[in-house]
Parts: sequence; structure tokens; C-alpha cells
Amino acid sequence: MRIVILGAGFGGLEVATRLVDAIGGQSGVEIVLIDRSEAFVAGADHIDFLAGRASLADVRHPFAESIDPRVRFVHSDVHRIDVAHRLVETTEGSFEADVLVVALGAELDVAATPGLAEAGHEFYSVPGVLAARRALDAFEGGQVVIGVCGTPYKCPPAPAAATLAIHDVLVQRRVAKRTEVTLVMPTARPIPPSPDASDAVLAAFDHLAITWRPETGIERLDPARRVAMTTGGDEIPFELFFGVPVHRAPDVVIAAGLCTDGWVRVDPATMETAHSGVYAVGDLVDIGAPKAGVFALAQAAVVAASVVARFRGEVDPVRGSDTGVCYLDIGRGRTNAIEVTFEPGGATNVVWHGPSPAVTEAKARDALDRVRRWFPREIGDR
Ligand SMILES: Cc1cc2nc3c(=O)[nH]c(=O)nc-3n(C[C@H](O)[C@H](O)[C@H](O)COP(=O)(O)OP(=O)(O)OC[C@H]3O[C@@H](n4cnc5c(N)ncnc54)[C@H](O)[C@@H]3O)c2cc1C
Repeated sequence: MRIVILGAGFGGLEVATRLVDAIGGQSGVEIVLIDRSEAFVAGADHIDFLAGRASLADVRHPFAESIDPRVRFVHSDVHRIDVAHRLVETTEGSFEADVLVVALGAELDVAATPGLAEAGHEFYSVPGVLAARRALDAFEGGQVVIGVCGTPYKCPPAPAAATLAIHDVLVQRRVAKRTEVTLVMPTARPIPPSPDASDAVLAAFDHLAITWRPETGIERLDPARRVAMTTGGDEIPFELFFGVPVHRAPDVVIAAGLCTDGWVRVDPATMETAHSGVYAVGDLVDIGAPKAGVFALAQAAVVAASVVARFRGEVDPVRGSDTGVCYLDIGRGRTNAIEVTFEPGGATNVVWHGPSPAVTEAKARDALDRVRRWFPREIGDR
């Protein structure tokens, strides 16, 4: 059985690792993992990098040198997916699959917000967060605006976490006293799925004199006048603007005919699309759950179990619920945990744990465990 996994992010790496653990190296099993990037950097690490808590070298994991040798990694751009024949065309040639797993994430559509590329920064891509940090390092004071340009977007806590990280940097650089920081979001709460975590964030904002503007989207930036135009029709002046760009499914996935209303639809019990043997996981899927790594992991577990059952000629296993945890730093090293339980039908339950040494330790341990499982050849280096 040849299993071709498109995308080596949270979803793709987790599917590949679970398949290796269950059936890797067995006769007749070939696991191919394709990604256009050379290395993995977790989204949460963008925030730590922005805050100066981690260097890029600490959080960058090159695929070719570190993933399990029972996975064939292909560094290549996927430019066509033929779902009827489970055939994929890439810059490194074509791949036919018995099972195809589409885990290409969400595309950042910076151009959908006029002026963002010219006058602002985004911190959701690796080049974006590098440029954002350089801009912060050169900043001498004024208005800093963090704005969400559209929903849905990856990781509900990320805009608030980035705002607090940016404020930390301004304090370290001694420019906070001559700076006003504002977070503008289209949602009613800073962390939509969790009222408790939202209250903790709002208390931190209050303490740090960060302005919070709910239920306000960013429509465009005027680079000449350096103002952000909101969906409510008013203008917010800025010296520095950090935007969460509009997200959409990757073009190659839309062109494959996998999307309905902009995102991929799957059977949430199996994560299989309407096309037999074609699965989808992660940010490009719409099953009503937020776009976050913890959900991609839970969905990947479902896909891997289905594929293993298929390989062994067994009946698809019945799934239980799966729990994952998102961590949120609210400044001065205080880490909160947002625990999310994912039910096979797509329902979610959210529990918040306030800051404690145990939560801080759990964050570090979870990240390290993931690195050890996904990049086993790297263990000796760290
Ligand atoms: C700033 C930030 C903070 C975050 N914090 C958290 C957090 O604390 N907790 C949490 O759970 N989640 C967090 N997330 C969200 C999390 O990173 C995503 O939800 C998760 O990565 C989704 O996994 P995925 O596999 O769907 O997509 P991704 O991890 O984005 O992987 C998609 C992969 O596909 C590749 N790809 C795309 N198109 C092509 C193509 N045409 N050809 C070849 N390869 C291609 C990409 O290079 C990428 O490696 C955060 C995200 C950001 C941006």
C-alpha cells in the first residue's frame, strides 16, 4: 500500500508518525510525505520567537535530516491533485497513491487585505515573523496595532498571545512608556472558544494598558496615511501594524474540487472526503472545530487508525474522544492551558487551567515529546 501524505505540518507529520509506529517498514507499505518547505516550525514557536523566548535555530526542524527513515520525504511543491485517480503532480514528478492524505493547511491571503503587504507585517509565516521581529527591534515608540483581517484564522489564542509578546518586547526595549498597543478583533472575546481564558487575557490587557477593540475587523490599510480602516468604517492610526491575514484553502485543493463553501468537507468519523481513499486533516478541513494544531493531531489519529485498518483488512475502529492542549502565555512567564476535547462527530469541550508551574512544565514537555516523536533522528542533537 502506498500512502502519500501531502503537507508535513501538524496533520501530515502526525499521520506519518502514527503510520510508522503501526505498520512502518512492513512489506508492501510505502509512506511518502511531500512538502514544499525544507523544515518545520510550529505556529506556537512564532510567538516565542517574536517575544525573544526562542531563536529560530531552536525551533526549526529540517525534514530531510530528522524524520524517520521509514518515511520517504520529498521536498517538492504539489501543483495538481487528481482525486478520482489518487494521483498527485509535483515539481519532483507524479505520485500515484492507494491512500492519499491531504494535509496542506490553510493559505495566508495577504493580498485580500489591501495595504497589508506594503504598510504592515504578518507573523503567521516564518518570513513574516522574522520581518515582524526586525520591525519591533527598530521601533522607537508610537501606536502599535495588532489586527485580525478575517475569520476563520489559525489558533484562536494567537492574536492575544502575540499582543502580549509584542508588549513584552516593547518593555524589554524600554519603549513601552511611549507606545500605545491596541488589539482589534472581529470576535466578541479575545479567545472565542474560552470565556475563562478570555477573562485572564482581558485582566492582563487592563494591567498593561493594552486597548482591546472587540467585534471590529480590519478591511484595509492606507499606506500613505498609515491608518487601518475597520469594518465599522472608522480609522485607527498606527506606526506599526501586525495583521493576521485572511485564511483560505490552498489553490491546489480548491482546484481539485475538494472544497465546499471554501473548505474541505469530510466525514468527521473517518476524515475521508467524498472520494474513496482520499482523506483530509487539519486547517483546510471544516468540521466546525477551530483551526489549531491540537485538532489537526486528533484528526490525524483518526486518519491513521482508518488507514491501518484498511491495510490489515480490518473493520474501521470505533473512535473515542481525544484531548489536546493549547498553551497561552499571558506575559511574565505565566502560561495558561486551554484543554480541548474533540469528539468524533466534531463537538468540542473546552476547559481552562490558569497559570502554574505545572502548566509551564507541561508546555515544555508536550513540545519536546512531539519533536522526539516526529523527528527521531534529531534527538541526539538536542
Ligand atoms: C502564530 C501561530 C500560533 C499558533 N499557536 C498554536 C498553539 O499554541 N496551539 C495549537 O494547537 N495550534 C497553534 N497554531 C495553529 C497550528 O499551527 C495549525 O493549526 C496547524 O499547523 C495546522 O496543521 P496542518 O497540518 O493543517 O497545517 P500546517 O501545519 O500549516 O502544514 C501544512 C503544510 O503543507 C505545506 N504545503 C502547503 N501547500 C503546499 C504545496 N502546494 N505543496 C507542498 N507543500 C505544501 C506547508 O509547507 C506546510 O508544511 C498556531 C498557528 C500560528 C500561525
